[in-house]
Amino acid sequence: MSDHPVDDPTLDRPGEACGVFGILGQDIDAARLTYFGLFTLQHRGQESAGISVSDGENITVYKDLGLVAQVFSETVLAGLPGSLAIGHTRYSTTGSTSWENSQPVFRHVGENALALAHNGNLTNTAQLAKELGPLAATTDSELMTEAFAQAMTDDIALPDAVSMTLPRFQGAFTLTIMDATTLIGVRDPHGFRPLCLGKLGESWVIASETAALDILGAEFVRQIQPGEMVVITKTGVTTRFPFEPAESRLCVFEFVYFARPDSILLGETIHKARQRMGRRLAEQAPVDADITVPVPESGIPAAQGFSEVSGIPYVDGLVKNRYVGRTFIQPAQSMREHGVRMKLNAMPGVIGGRRVVLVDDSIVRGSTTKQLVAMVREAGASEVHLRISSPPYRWPCFYGMDTGDRSTLLAADLSIDEIAVELDVESLAYLELDGLIEATGADADTFCTACLSGEYPTEVPIADSKFLLERST
Ligand code: SF4
Repeated sequence: MSDHPVDDPTLDRPGEACGVFGILGQDIDAARLTYFGLFTLQHRGQESAGISVSDGENITVYKDLGLVAQVFSETVLAGLPGSLAIGHTRYSTTGSTSWENSQPVFRHVGENALALAHNGNLTNTAQLAKELGPLAATTDSELMTEAFAQAMTDDIALPDAVSMTLPRFQGAFTLTIMDATTLIGVRDPHGFRPLCLGKLGESWVIASETAALDILGAEFVRQIQPGEMVVITKTGVTTRFPFEPAESRLCVFEFVYFARPDSILLGETIHKARQRMGRRLAEQAPVDADITVPVPESGIPAAQGFSEVSGIPYVDGLVKNRYVGRTFIQPAQSMREHGVRMKLNAMPGVIGGRRVVLVDDSIVRGSTTKQLVAMVREAGASEVHLRISSPPYRWPCFYGMDTGDRSTLLAADLSIDEIAVELDVESLAYLELDGLIEATGADADTFCTACLSGEYPTEVPIADSKFLLERST
């Protein structure tokens, strides 16, 4: 049986990372503000959503499977008073989809308590599980919470417990953590996942992406640095660097696909970077065709850039059903082959008789792309030329993207010509890695590109599966 709810029919790309959020102010409705922050981070995880809130003395957690708007109602939010909160939207990367694995994770520690929200994936989970002893953890996030809890004593408060414990973790971990009075934000030393700091009046906000600040009307203060831990209390923000210094390795897929187009990363608006990817792709792999058609929505900016440089008119030939989220209902058997139609449909009146350049941001497993190409042909395209605004995805991700093992990756062992045959397209080109990096506006050594290059910036547990903990507990 699948470990996921029914795969998103357009999910021919890595599963999203999770979204994390935190806010601390005075006399604010922190849960409501967190709700809107999570609403903006919904694209980073659609399996579950949760908020933990403190009224200064007690922490209350509310979480459930489903989208943010399904999990929370006015009544629920009214029952979550307090001026300090963290929140999470989840896409499972370790452990299966279940209520128990949704976040924030909560632990009582003597008279105290802590809650934690995690984006990423640890790579030393097995070692850590052994060190921490038997516990009911099915996720690396629970292991981290347990490790912090074990370090807290009457004399060691949360911030010290966190900074003492963090060097034990390896891999990707962007965290928001809270006790009854303190909010903490952490980025692992490589900074695989983003995290930013903002200010809303007198309140401090931390969020995976800047778009979550925008929706609240919060001002962007700065990115939290790789290896940085910010501690926020009523008296303000202090910062610590509890790790050995390491090189920045931001996930390049944040630029390709994960982050919202309106977010700003490394000083660049994601949308503009994606348009540049499309321009570069048109220079690198020109083609004779009639229309440029994006795969909505993440293929849109690259298709705009491609059209601009190639002069091949940009046309919306595929329509996306905007109101379909991730579904937990199994499709009827008759729908399976055409699962992609739940989300996208091709318009024969627009595509018919034309030579189409289809532009998408990435191909991971290939099954959806194959369906898409077939659909465009059925709609009457005379030729289909596929252009992908990132390099072939050949290696699995161990840093929080759910790609399955290598055998599931279309490009793992095939040449580009073989992939073109497999997908049944007249021509296929992927953006080269240097073109992708150039489009981000940052230096190559800023990024993790392991799934494209096979060069992992840390040791990775190739033999471990995401169910490691479930097997061992
Ligand atoms: S392996 Fe790929 S998806 Fe994973 S963090 Fe690195 S660049 Fe991102």
